[in-house]
Amino acid sequence: MEIDPVCKMEVDPVTAQWKSEYKDQTYYFCAPGCKASFDKDPEKYLKGEDQDQ
Ligand SMILES: [Zn+2]
Repeated sequence: MEIDPVCKMEVDPVTAQWKSEYKDQTYYFCAPGCKASFDKDPEKYLKGEDQDQ
């Protein structure tokens, strides 16, 4: 499972309908609103990502 960086929900990449590529990485979203928020300001949602690694 991938984590939606906007709302932190788990998203299955196989069925995900919304995704974005940023800096050679693909991010998956649970809803179009999450993708829109990410596209607008990706860095905002990528900070603090290190907790999950
Ligand atoms: Zn979401």
